[in-house]
Amino acid sequence: MTVRVRSRLLPGTPWWVVLVAVPLPLTALAAVVVLGPASVVDADRLTPATVVPVLVLQGAFCALLVWRARTLPQERVVWGRLALASVVFSAAVVASGVLSLADATRDVAPLPVTWAPVLTFPLVHAGLVRWNRSSGQLADPNDILNGVSAVLAAVALLNIAVTRAGSPLATAPWWELQPLLAQVATGFVLLGTVLSVLGLAAMRHDPRPWLVAAAVGVGLAGDAATVLGGGTPAGWVAVADPAAAALLGLAAALRPARSAPRAADPAASTIGAFVVIAASTVALFIERGPTVAACCAALAIIGAGVRLLMNVRELALLAVTRREALTDELTRAANRRAVLRRVRELADEQVPMALALLDLDKFKEVNDGLGHSAGDQLLRLVAARLQPLLRSGDLLGRLGGDEFAVVAPLEVGARPDEAAAALGRRLSLQLAEPFSVGGMSVHVAASIGVAHRAGGAPLPEDGGSPVELLLQQADTAMYAAKRSGTGVAVYDSTRHAETSRHLVLVEELRTALTTGQLVLHHQPQVDVGTGWVVGVEALVRWQHPVRGLLGPMEFLPLAEVHGLMGALTDEVLRQAVAQAAAWRATGRDLRVSVNLSASNLLDTDLPDRLADLLRGSGVPPEQLVLEVTESVLLGDPERSLAVVGRLADLGVTVSIDDFGTGYSSLSYLRDLPVAELKLDRSFTADLLTDPRTEAIVASTIALAHRLGLRIVAEGVEHAATLAHLARLGCDESQGYLHSPPLPAGQVDAWLDREGTAQQLLRV
Ligand code: C2E
Ligand code: MG
Ligand code: MG
Repeated sequence: MTVRVRSRLLPGTPWWVVLVAVPLPLTALAAVVVLGPASVVDADRLTPATVVPVLVLQGAFCALLVWRARTLPQERVVWGRLALASVVFSAAVVASGVLSLADATRDVAPLPVTWAPVLTFPLVHAGLVRWNRSSGQLADPNDILNGVSAVLAAVALLNIAVTRAGSPLATAPWWELQPLLAQVATGFVLLGTVLSVLGLAAMRHDPRPWLVAAAVGVGLAGDAATVLGGGTPAGWVAVADPAAAALLGLAAALRPARSAPRAADPAASTIGAFVVIAASTVALFIERGPTVAACCAALAIIGAGVRLLMNVRELALLAVTRREALTDELTRAANRRAVLRRVRELADEQVPMALALLDLDKFKEVNDGLGHSAGDQLLRLVAARLQPLLRSGDLLGRLGGDEFAVVAPLEVGARPDEAAAALGRRLSLQLAEPFSVGGMSVHVAASIGVAHRAGGAPLPEDGGSPVELLLQQADTAMYAAKRSGTGVAVYDSTRHAETSRHLVLVEELRTALTTGQLVLHHQPQVDVGTGWVVGVEALVRWQHPVRGLLGPMEFLPLAEVHGLMGALTDEVLRQAVAQAAAWRATGRDLRVSVNLSASNLLDTDLPDRLADLLRGSGVPPEQLVLEVTESVLLGDPERSLAVVGRLADLGVTVSIDDFGTGYSSLSYLRDLPVAELKLDRSFTADLLTDPRTEAIVASTIALAHRLGLRIVAEGVEHAATLAHLARLGCDESQGYLHSPPLPAGQVDAWLDREGTAQQLLRV
């Protein structure tokens, strides 16, 4: 049977650490036993025979601490400082040993060893305070001022106790007595510190702070027994310091339990400073004269007082930071966070309120025309102009850019819609006068949308927050005001719900794009001469989880306005090319046409993405047709023409969709690398009934052929229309006469049903 030992110490711990940590207590005890009781700590008997083993132990102990500091980054400061303290202590032992060699200095030989714990106190204290505490804004975790003040206060009280108790120590010279008392005092403070570490719930399950507490406790007991024994360490007291070092060494060797650092607590340092001041005041009250005790108490009061002042200053700083976090830097009005917080507060307190959103109409022109500093100046002036309008409890904020908000609690009894409209009017009026910006007089109109919420208004049905709902409603009203040019609009659920629904739809579309809700239907394109199916047009639909199948007109305009067209077209192209590849695999060489929108033609990365897509699919570029309408070229003709040119360079066919409905068709025909025209269905519909339409169609077909282009008639619904198109020489026909747009599976079934005459088979 294998016995598995679950240990914090052994796995991954170097052998020498185990070698030092495990027998350290035994070695320490052995040293005491072999060298005689009290030999290690009794400075009077410092000889090379006692100093050398102590130094060897110290060296091993120090190496252990340094190793721990290097292997535990989150506690580097803790163990690093303890290691440094141990180095100082070793140096003191060496100094005492050297001094004891010569007769002249033998009397002062114990001094370095007695003062060493006092001198190393700041290091040990600062190390322990850092344990498991991350630096917070308040209460410096290295708070040595509080620690030193506490030691001074304790030294003052101990001095009083030694004198009052008539201890033989009272007659010892101060340089011998004070370090002894200071050792006890530092022991007290360190014990308090490590116990406060244990007070953190996260550390309670970690044996290491318990071991450190035991180490400090044992050391303190030894020091206290020495003081009580009149200054001579005797009996078991001699074992105290090596035992403490052994416990500390063991703590260093153990691996830490899992715990997250906690921010330092400002309350702890404040309470600590108060306790020190109270204790020192008592000491001062008892010791009126200029004694060591009185001096220590006075120094302790000064130290703790300074610490308190630092806390107060930090608190003031924190208050400023808090205010800054809620203020808009440019206008000094509230910022977005503060506005949302105010709305949330009022909603929580069930206070009726109005929220006005205000968007400057011509801000971009000022910014572009007069420069950014003029734009900034205008924003500051607007904020300053609106500020006097606020009543008590109102809040003006800048949400970002040129958008401001006013949160106004409404008076009880007032009609919310009227009060909201009045607020909108007041704001609008206030901006009527021109502003003087950059030496010019500038008129700034604003679009203001106001939404209101009654005190006990129910929470939104969809579980959203009342803040979001109110903000969305004010936003909807603001856009309504902008569109209609009225300046002010109050949100009205009957009129504006549609717009809100649009916003919801946009969010849903965003999700739809990544969750496969967009599907393609394909409408066959038939060769007029042969009757063969030569291609399909891929038309997007949205399989909405609640509203069913949505046509492109229900969401494409939203996608265009809200910047989703790039992602949408990528998805359509991906599906269309994959479908073309699937048809090729079954022997059907069907051309696939995809529609592009205005923003696609401004996307200069589109040609590269499409090239990658085609390369990966194995579909030859000429199998893909990209349809663009003339109007999409109007936005930024230069850039659009460049993108179209690069698309044509890939080898794909560019087609002009809805031909005849746009403007300047002929100039585009000259400039664009076009290979196909799609005659708009309005011409097809009137072909048989309107001679003028017939003339246009006939000459368009002739023109296309003169230019070497293929012409496809759209919206062909009747056999007579198709026959006439054939007479006029039209190349291809697409319309309900052949088939409506169908899912790919149904296109296959349709092709099978219509027989081989309907399809172009690969030979
Ligand atoms: P379009 O490119 O002109 O597409 C032809 C439209 O005419 C399709 O409407 C089709 O269903 C319809 N149609 C076909 N045959 C007939 C017919 O015989 N009679 C009548 N009255 N209509 C017919 P759909 O699918 O609703 O698409 C509308 C428009 O949406 C398309 O017009 C196109 O501009 C746009 N669109 C569709 N899919 C996409 C897409 O993936 N991306 C982009 N950017 N636009 C698309
Ligand atoms: Mg089209
Ligand atoms: Mg069309």
